[in-house]
Amino acid sequence: MNLARPAQAPILDRLGRPLHDLRLSVIDACNFRCGYCMPADRIPDDHGLDAAGRLSFDQIETLVRAFAAAGVHKLRLTGGEPLLRKRLPDLVARLARIPGIDDLALTTNGSLLAAQARALREAGLRRLTVSLDALDPAVFSAMSGGRGEVGPVLEGIAAAGAAGFGPLKINCVVQRGLNEEQVLPLLGHFRGTGHVVRFIEYMDVGTCNGWRQEQVVTSAELRDRIAARWPLRPLQSHYCGEVAERYAFADGGGEVGFVSSVSTPFCGHCHRARVSADGQLYTCLFADQGHDLKPALAQGEAALFGHLAGLWSRREDRYSEIRGNPSAPRKHIEMYLIGG
Ligand code: SAM
Ligand code: SF4
Ligand code: SF4
Repeated sequence: MNLARPAQAPILDRLGRPLHDLRLSVIDACNFRCGYCMPADRIPDDHGLDAAGRLSFDQIETLVRAFAAAGVHKLRLTGGEPLLRKRLPDLVARLARIPGIDDLALTTNGSLLAAQARALREAGLRRLTVSLDALDPAVFSAMSGGRGEVGPVLEGIAAAGAAGFGPLKINCVVQRGLNEEQVLPLLGHFRGTGHVVRFIEYMDVGTCNGWRQEQVVTSAELRDRIAARWPLRPLQSHYCGEVAERYAFADGGGEVGFVSSVSTPFCGHCHRARVSADGQLYTCLFADQGHDLKPALAQGEAALFGHLAGLWSRREDRYSEIRGNPSAPRKHIEMYLIGG
């Protein structure tokens, strides 16, 4: 069955937010152990799903068709580390053909990108975000839990350019005392290239990272530090609900973005669903539990569409606005299971 894009009104949640974006994890494994996400002392190498526990490509295609019918236009593939999923370009090619999905993107740690950028591009991937927390080799290695090297990530970024991807987003999570001194070098490296570095406030996701407020470097603080070196001017957002606040370098050196979910929550415009590699729907990055989509998925696209519409219309998450309140969920899904 192929449900056409809905001509009807969008499906709204209890706070009036439409379902617009889907972040889909294709794998829960990762070759890094970033301390803010999957600290090595908490997540063993053999954790998680075997291949049989992951949705198959057939299941993923049906799932995305149902989400597209429910109003999703933007699809971002993530992980874990998505480039560890075997035959990923084959999946991308199938998803790129789904009517209604106008934007197909992927977030990666970049370590395996050099070898895969061209195949992903040819398969129809439109946009890439590469996570990069430091240029300094020692700081980079420490941020990846001793598993990664910065050289292959920079090679991956270059390969993406050569394969025809336009400017990339480069995501950097800033943690006080760990990589805050990398902020200006990262900007110095990417200014003038067209790539847009985005600084992300360190979030209290999951249960493993031992998050403390003092470790957060707020966007306001970073912006002041950056502006003292390169004056900035604010830019209009591209669309309502854009997650990053955008600034331009006044000297024409390009753009920088800030994702401020701790200091400036944006739940009021949150129109994003997340699905883990084993088919659980999470309606918030900080949800304490998911909704298993597999039974409805087994009945086909139309049944899943109905199920999704019901789940989304009951959604009332707004964790970042109520962080610290007694009613806020205490237990959160791990970030590496839903991919950001
Ligand atoms: N492995 C891929 C990567 O690192 O790009 C994709 C999955 S990763 C979970 C997606 C994004 O989540 C990355 O940009 C990462 O930096 C971000 N992230 C993970 N834990 C975070 C945290 N505690 N606070 C803020 N961002 C976080
Ligand atoms: Fe892996 Fe990405 Fe999490 Fe780092 S942020 S541990 S690269 S999933
Ligand atoms: Fe969306 Fe939840 Fe983040 Fe709020 S806390 S912006 S509802 S994911």
